[in-house]
Amino acid sequence: MTQLVAYQLPKLGVAGSSPVSRSCPDNVGVYYHKAYNLPPMSVKLLNIDTDSPADLAKMRSGDRILSFNGKLVEDALDLQFLLGERTEVLLERDGNQINLSLNLPDGSEPGWEIEPLELRTCKCNCVFCFVDQQPPNLRSTLYIKDEDYRFSFLFGNYLTLVGISGREFERIIRMKLSPLYVSIHTVDPVVRGKLLGLKSAPVLSKLRKLIDGGIEIHGQIVLVPGYNDGKVLEDSLNELLPLYPGLASLSVVPIGLTKHRKGLNRLRPLSVDEAEITVDIVRSYQKKAMETCGSRWVFPSDELLIKAGLEIPQDDYYEEYPQIENGVGIARWTYEQVEQALEEGLNQSVINGRILWVTGHSAASFLQQIASDISERFIEINIEVLPVQNRLLGSQVTVAGLLCGKDILDSLKDYFRTYSQRNFDKIYLPPDCINYDGLLLDNYSPEEISAELDHLVEAFDGDWVSMITGQSGSNR
Ligand code: SF4
Repeated sequence: MTQLVAYQLPKLGVAGSSPVSRSCPDNVGVYYHKAYNLPPMSVKLLNIDTDSPADLAKMRSGDRILSFNGKLVEDALDLQFLLGERTEVLLERDGNQINLSLNLPDGSEPGWEIEPLELRTCKCNCVFCFVDQQPPNLRSTLYIKDEDYRFSFLFGNYLTLVGISGREFERIIRMKLSPLYVSIHTVDPVVRGKLLGLKSAPVLSKLRKLIDGGIEIHGQIVLVPGYNDGKVLEDSLNELLPLYPGLASLSVVPIGLTKHRKGLNRLRPLSVDEAEITVDIVRSYQKKAMETCGSRWVFPSDELLIKAGLEIPQDDYYEEYPQIENGVGIARWTYEQVEQALEEGLNQSVINGRILWVTGHSAASFLQQIASDISERFIEINIEVLPVQNRLLGSQVTVAGLLCGKDILDSLKDYFRTYSQRNFDKIYLPPDCINYDGLLLDNYSPEEISAELDHLVEAFDGDWVSMITGQSGSNR
């Protein structure tokens, strides 16, 4: 399930210092994978830090790690799981196999950089796939249709479980890759098949298999009117609730439709009435779940609540915020963070600032409320909120995370044309519209926007005191 993440595994590793070379005779596993025609398994070392444990063990950049203590190293995840304080390593270097010994005492890092995981792609053709609804010339990673349990475990990407082999199920359970994030959508195999562009797509037995193997799952239902709403949703919740606590949480999010749907299935957004009915269904199952499990278990996304015209619930409603990355509870969490900053952070800070917060239309009224609360309590702080229309993807896309640099820049220019006397200490962009390289969807950077406007422009970095006063930690 495609999400906006950077597809780069961080440096993995444990620890080490002095080297002890020993032979490692057990390379049977390497031949096993060749004999059974399994995909090539090894991890390439890209860089070795000087005097690091890997260097002292005589590992070199370009080496390919084949096995640790006789166990095949399939990918970078195995490095995390198979490395110990003392590891016998089988390498391939210039076509030859070499045995080395790596010592990593006291949790020290090996001192290597490894090739990133190669992302596996999906075998579905979902009617609502966001990748198919994007215009050309955006960041290349936005066109990747990912379906990779490793990225689900590492980064919380949702996956359908379609096309995952029995061997991969075993690996997930053996390595305890938990929690995983699964796009369930519905438990009806035929309806799910229609949604995923397949004949049939059963999911219940797969969920049970993982849960029986000790894997915790967080599920999502992307609600597509006419497919999996109403009675189909109720039936799904009915079948899924007994999977708690293995199915630890479930989110219900409305379908996202852009204006780029030429040649794709005719779909429509959820109406306000449908959003209300959906929230009612969710609430009735929250009640049942509370009575039987002591958890609300199923949560409507913020977008769904806003669409239904409902208030954002209080903090305790979201329990541990199990699906905040999926837009469930972000508004409440934001409010709580601001409150905390006001109570703790601002006391030690210079309390003034003229700030402009840029956001999408769906969060605008909530942020406006927060901004006026702040201004009432601290009269020297003046925060304005600028909702930006998403011209790139269409007016139905209202979340801040999908705003591009050009739309933001054009809105800001319009704003300053209208209010030429306005002047801000800082303009903040929403954090989730920026990727790990600090770029927006269309590769604009905050610095470029800043240069065009003659105003300081930054993406919000999690420091709420700075977001409120415009003063970063070092200047306060
Ligand atoms: S086709 Fe479906 S599973 Fe594949 S990336 Fe798109 S939404 Fe995700």
